[in-house]
Amino acid sequence: MDYELAIIGGGPAGYTAGIYATRAGIKCVLFDLGYGGGLMALSPEIENYTGYPSISGMALGDKMREHLEKYMTPNFGETVEKLEVTEDEVRIKTNSKEYTAGAVIIATGTVHRKLGIKGEADLTGRGVSYCATCDGPFFKGKKAIVVGGGNSALIEAIALKQMGVDISLIHRRDVLRGEDAYKDRAVEVGVDIIYQTHVEEIMGEDKVEKVLVHNVKDQKKSELKTSAVFVSIGEEPQNQLAKQIGCALDDQGYIITDKNQRTNVKRIYAAGDITGGLRQIVTACAEGALASLTSTEVLGKVYPY
Ligand code: NAP
Repeated sequence: MDYELAIIGGGPAGYTAGIYATRAGIKCVLFDLGYGGGLMALSPEIENYTGYPSISGMALGDKMREHLEKYMTPNFGETVEKLEVTEDEVRIKTNSKEYTAGAVIIATGTVHRKLGIKGEADLTGRGVSYCATCDGPFFKGKKAIVVGGGNSALIEAIALKQMGVDISLIHRRDVLRGEDAYKDRAVEVGVDIIYQTHVEEIMGEDKVEKVLVHNVKDQKKSELKTSAVFVSIGEEPQNQLAKQIGCALDDQGYIITDKNQRTNVKRIYAAGDITGGLRQIVTACAEGALASLTSTEVLGKVYPY
């Protein structure tokens, strides 16, 4: 056996699982296809992670990574492509090597949902963006729209406004889904909120120039000039590996676990946004800790909790 525990995903859940596992004396590896941080790293501002009244996702990701690196070196840039579960071990095939482990924690998180409308794919990187932190500064002094009505859309809109972007937030319903604290802040900083409106097409030759919108209240369609479209309409679970090995998923594709993060497949645990539910950084960390310590049950170790 190469490792006792393999963790797939370097977001808050995976990092915390790694910290708890190594501190408990478990020989552990963590794979992340990028440089870690997960979706958290793209968040402009986090205000509800205990102990940090306000911190950017990137800064919190760096702190978490540094904390993990006190105990282990993550395998960044190594993508897990295949899992195979046998009675005695889990075989892991990555883009560069093969490994065996006694247990695996799937902490692969989610990716941004796409609108799926005309122009979105063609103009991605040319005005269509899924990350205000990354791309917002390019649009300082220009007009841009954010699509969505949840916490993420509100946070992105506030951050963009603070970067000096002229922002309208377009939401398909008459009520926002996001928390009151973010709604109030958006209004306070002057985000223009357009309700009951669908964005139906993104238009432009080489870059975003305008969008076609449909107001579902008066059924009118019109064009709005904009230099950018920030899409922030929720997330899709990264469940490909879980599906491969027969993990039970809920109707939205999130991995079903028990309260100790066990999946229905022996030796496989799941933690963080991939398990659905509240999808907060603090719950991801908690699930990561629990998953790593629960995994001791298949490693022949007893953890006193
Ligand atoms: P979300 O809460 O699922 O909201 C998605 C928003 O996009 C909803 O307003 C939804 O409209 C809209 N939407 C979905 N599909 C659409 C489509 N095809 N066209 C137009 N609009 C569409 O997603 P999220 O804001 O990304 O947040 C994801 C999770 O992370 C949530 O649990 C959230 O609480 C959490 N989160 C928390 C924080 C925080 O607390 N600091 C920050 C970010 C995210 P409807 O309202 O009509 O469904």
